[in-house]
Amino acid sequence: MAWLNRVKREAPEVAGQASGTTLPASLVDLLASIDAESLLLASGDAIIYSTPGIATFQLTRDRFLINNSLMNLVRAVRRSGEQQEATMELPRGPIGEGMHDLLVRVTPIGDDGMIAILIFDDSEMRRLDAIRRDFVANISHELKTPIGALSILSEAVLGAADDPEAITRFANRMQAEAQRLTGLVQEIIDLSRLQDGDPLKSGEVVDLVLAVKEAADQTTLSAESRKISVVLSVPDQVEIAGSREQVIMAVHNLIENAINYSPEGTRVAVALRVQDGIAEISVSDQGIGIPESSLERIFERFYRVDAARSRATGGTGLGLSIVKHVATNHGGDVSVWSVEGAGSTFTMRFPLSPNNPQPTLKAVEAK
Ligand code: ADP
Repeated sequence: MAWLNRVKREAPEVAGQASGTTLPASLVDLLASIDAESLLLASGDAIIYSTPGIATFQLTRDRFLINNSLMNLVRAVRRSGEQQEATMELPRGPIGEGMHDLLVRVTPIGDDGMIAILIFDDSEMRRLDAIRRDFVANISHELKTPIGALSILSEAVLGAADDPEAITRFANRMQAEAQRLTGLVQEIIDLSRLQDGDPLKSGEVVDLVLAVKEAADQTTLSAESRKISVVLSVPDQVEIAGSREQVIMAVHNLIENAINYSPEGTRVAVALRVQDGIAEISVSDQGIGIPESSLERIFERFYRVDAARSRATGGTGLGLSIVKHVATNHGGDVSVWSVEGAGSTFTMRFPLSPNNPQPTLKAVEAK
């Protein structure tokens, strides 16, 4: 099972020989080599061996099991003499809603009444699985819409063979749908790229000033077509550790949204500043704003406040989830302030890389 390799392991701890039971070295070696936390119980249920990671689950105290479900499993094994398996959910800590999803296997060993308990933590695998399932369901729906439209439009073109005006109209719509498909595929590629690399481990230093300028440059055409001025305000130098490509992608998405969800002739302000060891990039618009009830959901994949408007602007519903991933991947976060009818401000925060010079602000008008 490949996923088992992802479970983080510490060196196992032979806690056991103490209670008079001698553990065969081969058994200890075997347990140590398995990607699971493990416990060995002697015939009286005293713990004679455990891996250090067991402590995370708070299943034991003073060399005995204290978890009822686990004790029941052990009893069932003692009664039947056969291996038992169960899934268990345990809280990750005293606060919060996080849970460990555990697969527990209890096996009788030899004739001395010894029992081995193997605990596989599949929380991460389940979380990824849930995301994958949810993503596949959503993506199929999102792909079906433009593909369905293309199919209907191509039929319409065939039926309008002697009406050149209608053909042009249908062809234009086909082009728009094809562009939407291309955008969707590009964002899916962006999103999947974000999920595999850890930008903090690459060791790249990102010049945030240049990254913000480049992201703004990429939006020049759409800003011009909507007569929106994008105004930058950046210090001389701000550096973070991470991926330049990802940061540009995220800032670009925020500016592009600010433009798309604003009336013509308004202003989008992009500011980079440093405060208390944190670099902050904010993108403010004078646009339609976001209803309070949607604020919590806009960073979800495919969530849109107004699907029709998002489609009309070529939106895919993936932009903000990419922004959120980029922020999290860099050890930062993203937040939003918005008032319907007044505008929105999105703020990304990144921890600074060491040795940043004191910033001085200057304003730059984007082309
Ligand atoms: P989309 O591709 O639909 O723009 P996003 O993930 O980028 O998808 O954004 C999700 C939704 O959040 C959008 O559909 C829109 O309803 C809302 N939204 C995002 N940015 C803004 C903004 N600057 N002003 C108003 N609404 C916004």
